[in-house]
Amino acid sequence: MTNVPELFGSLVFNDKVMRERLPKETYAALKKTVDKGTALDPALANTIAAVMKDWAIEHGATHYTHWFQPMTGITAEKHDSFISPVSDGTVIMNFSGKELIHGEPDASSFPSGGLRSTFEARGYTAWDPCSYAFIKDGALCIPTAFISYSGQVLDKKTPLIRSMKAINAQALRVLHAIGNTDVSRVIPTVGPEQEYFLIDKELWKKRKDLIFTGRTLFGARPPKGQELEDHYFGNIRPRVIAYMDDLDRELWKFGILAKTRHNEVAPAQHELAPIFTTLNIATDHNQLTMEVMKKVADRHGLVCLLHEKPFAGVNGSGKHNNWSISTDTGENLLNPGKTPETNMRFLLFLSAVIKAVDLHQDLLRLSVASAGNDHRLGANEAPPAIISVFLGNELTGILESMQSGTAYRGKKGNRMQVAESIPEFMSDTTDRNRTSPFAFTGNKFEFRSLGSSVNIACPNVMLNTAVADVLSEYANVLENSKDAEKDMRKLITDTYAVHKRIVFNGNNYSDEWVEEAQKRGLLNLKTTAEALPYYSREENLALFARHNVYTGEEIKAREEILLENYCKVINIEALTMIDMAGKQILPACISYMKTLADTISAKSALGLESFAETELLLRVNALTQTAYKTNTQLSDAAVKVKNAENLQKQAAAYHNVVFAAMQELRAACDELETLVPESVWPLPTYADLLFSV
Ligand code: ADP
Ligand code: MG
Repeated sequence: MTNVPELFGSLVFNDKVMRERLPKETYAALKKTVDKGTALDPALANTIAAVMKDWAIEHGATHYTHWFQPMTGITAEKHDSFISPVSDGTVIMNFSGKELIHGEPDASSFPSGGLRSTFEARGYTAWDPCSYAFIKDGALCIPTAFISYSGQVLDKKTPLIRSMKAINAQALRVLHAIGNTDVSRVIPTVGPEQEYFLIDKELWKKRKDLIFTGRTLFGARPPKGQELEDHYFGNIRPRVIAYMDDLDRELWKFGILAKTRHNEVAPAQHELAPIFTTLNIATDHNQLTMEVMKKVADRHGLVCLLHEKPFAGVNGSGKHNNWSISTDTGENLLNPGKTPETNMRFLLFLSAVIKAVDLHQDLLRLSVASAGNDHRLGANEAPPAIISVFLGNELTGILESMQSGTAYRGKKGNRMQVAESIPEFMSDTTDRNRTSPFAFTGNKFEFRSLGSSVNIACPNVMLNTAVADVLSEYANVLENSKDAEKDMRKLITDTYAVHKRIVFNGNNYSDEWVEEAQKRGLLNLKTTAEALPYYSREENLALFARHNVYTGEEIKAREEILLENYCKVINIEALTMIDMAGKQILPACISYMKTLADTISAKSALGLESFAETELLLRVNALTQTAYKTNTQLSDAAVKVKNAENLQKQAAAYHNVVFAAMQELRAACDELETLVPESVWPLPTYADLLFSV
């Protein structure tokens, strides 16, 4: 099918399908739930289920599944066929309202962080009617929330929906208090830009590190990396464009608004950006996008790597979370308009975000913490671990002059005429800043610290809840205000006075910023092990409880799951290294040394000089001994760290001891790679992996 509009959403039970197929009243009720977030009458579920089933069968489905997002970070599904036996030995295809609304998967093997004892295996999935059902792999997939037998949240989706409710409630209070009474719903919107690597599948199969951990644990720098900057936006090679074409088509079938595709900075690295949409849908779509990226790659003899740092020495992959808030009347609350200096509503919402980010740096930081992302943050390829806000000169100037009570006299954009034959255009009033973790980019904030593989739910839960909390304070003032305009002004200037320390428009990669940030008292949580324990601080427990996003127990469980996950990831990496070093790299070096030694003795029998061979043998031997010793130390460390007295200490030890030993082992092995002949080296090299597609 080449007709894109026809292809788009062809596997989705979307609004158009519902309008065409559902009885009028059922459609109206469902639409109200989707648009207004009101509860759906369960009595309608049977009708909807029957229509959904017929549609799914027409589109080749034989099964259905509740599709959910457990704390593993990826999606989960368990297929049930529609078949139902009848007395004459045949089957009919059946799907009830109950099966649509509610499922009971065995929850015992999903991470729960102690929220569920293993004997309480039961978990529930519950239909989220606000995210469309779709067909994947012959199964009707129904987006659902996932909770435990006792009602605690076990997934990423439920808190997200709760946080959307929170920001809706508080933003509405503010809007109504300032006279925007026509607005009845406020919705966060997100467009996540997704980076990824593509490598050849045959090479991938030869690297246990890629297979088990998603990243290379060994690998010397190739002669050429990204230094010529010739890959970024470069023309796209045929095998890659064939992949991208196929990928776009698959995504369009799922109704995913795949829009932009280009080569990224590192060789073999690429990016896909969709058009933004409502947050919970954007979250589902991003999960689906990552899954489809991998599947389509396989069809093309490729492997799609979503790890944050698949290769040392070249840029890793991130995900830019473009976030804004819109009204059901179609207005973007973060749109500054032509004269932001007089747009008090915009400045008020902007202030709320500034304050939220300053007060909750810890939550934003920990929401992007993972073993993989530790390689990127602060490594001059991604924002530092310090959270700050980029506003640009214009907005900073406006807030500064409001605070000092002077009139804003900012510069406007310039007319740009490049050459006579090229139409002129207006320049923007502020440049971009690619180094900022949280940058205002025209009509939205771009949270740039996310790792490429992360589920975007958690960072957005933090953002929504933090902003909702500030908005509720603003609403408390404005609801009792006699002069809304004056009080808005005061809220804006007061906020800026207290929270301007979070605003930084300079180079976030510089050492001076690290010093300056420390002087300003900003947090600098360099590693996952340092960041995660902030989750369960008293004020955070209180924040989430205030807005009904998480209970204290749920937060503690999440902290535990994430810490545990970090330890497990490092452990798997360590074990993989031990295995590769012991069974592949060291044996290759030993056999090469034998070749050298044999050559030396044969030559000495003939009275020939063996300076080169001897020198090489000495160097290879020294490094081999080091590699062997560090490998043994790593094995010991990997065992010892298990005795840590609690999870926090264990995570710290995994970072300080195990990860440190891994680095040492890698250094010796990478140097060996530069000395041992290609014919003997047991692994495809970086040059092979990065430049072969
Ligand atoms: P860049 O690479 O310059 O950061 P892109 O155009 O690749 O920008 O991506 C910008 C992303 O921001 C897109 O996904 C776009 O849909 C999204 N976006 C634009 N406006 C909004 C908005 N109001 N809310 C959320 N996301 C938005
Ligand atoms: Mg971007």
